[in-house]
Parts: sequence; C-alpha cells; structure tokens
Amino acid sequence: MPNAKLNQDTEPNRLANSPFSLTILGAGSATPTLKLHQTAQLLTIGSDHVLIDCGEGTQLRLIEQRIRPGRLRYIFISHLHGDHYFGLPPLLSSLNLGGRTEDLFLFGPRGLDEVLTTIFRVSDSRLGFRLHFQVVEPGTPTLLLDHPLMTVESIPLQHRIDCSGYLFREKPHKPHLLREKLPDDVPVHYLKQLKNGEDILGPTGEILFASAEYTEPGPPARSYAYCSDTRYVEELVPQLQGVNLLYHEATFMEDNAQRATEVYHSTAKQAATIAAKAGAERLLIGHFSSRYKQFDLFLEEARSVFPETYLAIEGQTTSI
Ligand SMILES: [Zn+2]
Ligand SMILES: [Zn+2]
Repeated sequence: MPNAKLNQDTEPNRLANSPFSLTILGAGSATPTLKLHQTAQLLTIGSDHVLIDCGEGTQLRLIEQRIRPGRLRYIFISHLHGDHYFGLPPLLSSLNLGGRTEDLFLFGPRGLDEVLTTIFRVSDSRLGFRLHFQVVEPGTPTLLLDHPLMTVESIPLQHRIDCSGYLFREKPHKPHLLREKLPDDVPVHYLKQLKNGEDILGPTGEILFASAEYTEPGPPARSYAYCSDTRYVEELVPQLQGVNLLYHEATFMEDNAQRATEVYHSTAKQAATIAAKAGAERLLIGHFSSRYKQFDLFLEEARSVFPETYLAIEGQTTSI
C-alpha cells in the first residue's frame, strides 16, 4: 500500500501539499464477514472530513481511526443497497446525542431522505442540527459541490439500482512566492498580486516585478474518483481521465466474470482495465465478495493489466 505519510522532504511553504488523503474504513461487500467491514471511506481535504458511503458500523470504524464523527461535514452515499448506507441512521443519531449544532451536508440517491425521515419520525427523534440533503440524479455527471478547496461531481455507474460514484478534484493551487528574490521593502500588497499571477506595473506601465519571475508554480491539483458498485462501464473512461487515485470495486475475479455482469459488479481485471484506459496514477480495489478468502489473487489479476494497483486495506490511509 502507498504510504500514509505526507512527503516531509519538501520545504514548508514551498511545494508542501495540503492534506488530501483517503482512509479505508470498510472494504467488504454485502455478505457480512468477520474479516471485512462494509463499505465506507474517509476523504480528508485540508481540515475537512468527507465520508463516502456509510456501511453498517461506520461510526465505530471512525472511532477506531480516532476521527471524531462530529468533525464530518459532508457525506456522499453511492446507492441504497444496505451495505453502503445502513450505518447512516445510527451515525446521525450519535451526532445528535453528541449535541451537534453545525450543519451537515448529505448527498445521495432519491429515497434516502424518505428512509431517514421515517426512522426519525417513528423514533420521535428531532435533530438538533440542520441536515441538508441533495438528491444525486443518476445518469449524467453533475457538479454537486463547489467547496473552497475542491469540487465534487457525480459519476454515473451501472448497478442494479441507481448508483453514482463521486469525483473529488482539488482546486488549482496558487503559485508559491519566491520571497527571497524580492527586495525587503517591497509593499505587502505586491506580494498578494504576484501570488495571484499579476505583474506589478510602474507608473508608465513598465513591469517592475513579473509574477513568473518571482513565483514558482504551486503543486498540481490532485483528484480522487470513487467508483462504487458497478458493472464494467467503459463510458466512464473520459470522465476519469488522468485521475490521481481511482477506487474501483472488484467484487469478483475473472473466474466469475459472467456472474459479475449478471449481478452488475466488476472483476479485478475490469477495474484495472478502467484504470489503464483512464491513465490513472494508482488504483485501489475493494468490495471483495465473501466467497474469496485470498485477496492477493485479486491484486495479481489486476496488476497483470495495471501494475499500480493496491488493495483497499481497512485502517490504511493513502496520501493522494
Ligand atoms: Zn455493495
Ligand atoms: Zn450494491
């Protein structure tokens, strides 16, 4: 697995990236096993925590990872098969018990609001915080969130019921200022302009300080694509082009390719084919069927097509 640690070799304030990392909370599929938990992932961007899917027991996985559930701000649910959201009602209840007052933003398929409303109604629960729900329409990629640090768009997947993946893209980083190249007495507002890519002009329009000369490009913006339950969909490739980290389900191996297609799931080789065609940097595979006991074979199969494949391992954090 890629290492969890951020690259500490870079100088602070130079090319140091802000946190953008993924922690696997659950990598199993629908049938419960003692080895794997149901699907949930935590994406950390800057100081924000984003929960992606919320299988049974996710709140306990968060506690295990020493992530206070109260720090969650955004939750994205891919589809309404229980192994992807049955952990949500207890998580919301616990947030309420914990006295949460901050707004929480939930994205998911039509019907999720109905389920939650019914549960809260029959248990006579009233949330002490605002839960904003946005329906994710299946079928076409849609911009769902424009956050100061990232955008999130839906990825249309093909599963037995409506299902969407999510593409998280960092916004471009501002250039870094080469402060030591500038005179000490340069006015502070010049620094901001230079960082914004603007040249500093003199009274007659001559360039006093060219932005390109006193800055260097910031680190490239990174991206993470989450492809939850889906059969092999080659039409995903253009949207996933060049993604830094791709998670793609791999419920089966090629020995069950026929079954995978019938039940709208993918094989490890198919996941790897999507990653290769999309020119992804790295691939994580997960959602392994409980019929398999040996996950190394998934890795072998996927790596024969896309060498930069890694298993989604619960509790591990991948820096993107
Ligand atoms: Zn599933
Ligand atoms: Zn499913």
